Parts: sequence; C-alpha cells; structure tokens
Amino acid sequence: MIPPGYILIRPETLAGVQKAIEAALGPAAGECLAAGGRAGGGRAAAALEGDAAARVTRLLAQGGALGWGTFALERLTPTALAVTVTGSPFARAYGGATAPVCHLTRGVLEALAATVLQRPRPVRETACAALGAPRCYFETVDAAMPPRSRFEPVSHPARAGGEMGGTPRPPHSQ
Ligand SMILES: [Zn+2]
Repeated sequence: MIPPGYILIRPETLAGVQKAIEAALGPAAGECLAAGGRAGGGRAAAALEGDAAARVTRLLAQGGALGWGTFALERLTPTALAVTVTGSPFARAYGGATAPVCHLTRGVLEALAATVLQRPRPVRETACAALGAPRCYFETVDAAMPPRSRFEPVSHPARAGGEMGGTPRPPHSQ
C-alpha cells in the first residue's frame, strides 16, 4: 500500500509543523517548507523518463496517487509551467489562512520545473483553497521577482473591495 521509500504522515501533523515554523520565522517559513518540497520533488523528478510532457504528466499522477490532491496540467511551454490542484490536503488541514499555504507542493513543482524547463524558475501559488479558492493554482514566475513580493498579487476574498495598502498577512507577534 505504501510505496517503497515513503512514509505516511497526517496532513494535520504537517500543518502543525508549518504553523510552528510560521510562529518562529514569519513569512520566511513558507520558503523553508518549499525547500523541503524541492528536496523530495527533486528525487521524484530525477527518476522520471521521457520528454517534458511525459515527465510532467507522470509526476502529477504520482502526486495524486500519494494523496496530495488532484493535479491538472494547465500550461507547459519550454519556459513556463502552470498546474492546478483540487482538494489539497495541506490547505484542508491548515484551515483559514491569510496567504497561500501549500508550500510543499510548490517546492515539488519547482523541482519539476527545474528538470523540464529550459532554466529553473520559481513557482508561485497564486490561488489557494485555504483562502477560499476552488483549487490551488501554481505557476512559474520571473526569477528576478523578490520572494517577499510573491504573495502580493493574491486577492483575498474578504478584502475584495479595493482595499489599498496594508500587508499581505498580519504581522506576527514576536
Ligand atoms: Zn493551496
């Protein structure tokens, strides 16, 4: 049942880790989790065979089989990758959020992008079920984009009204 080399872990366990890291590090926590996704995703991506489309299709299928949600390829060009995930367990376990939370998936997709695109590019989660979106949306972005600004384009349903200014997430207590 469990594929060789894997362990089972509840998404609530990961959400607990994630919230503890966020409490300690603030917005930098997301990049730490994405690094974990890149480490695991790099191993998975290195084992893929075939052309870019075949490798992407295979890894997205693996993600679904492992319970990471239902992956769908939205766009694949030599320089760009976009993927949606319906039913992300990370978003479900996290609950309400003020910024996208599926950093592990984002990191895996960054590792995938690094193997199938002409050059590595960061991946941004521009919509997340933890923010009320019907599905999580991941897309490669310009590598020159500063990491701290990656979440700014995300629209928050509760703020839909053109509220200007403010920070993308409430400041963390020290
Ligand atoms: Zn998400």
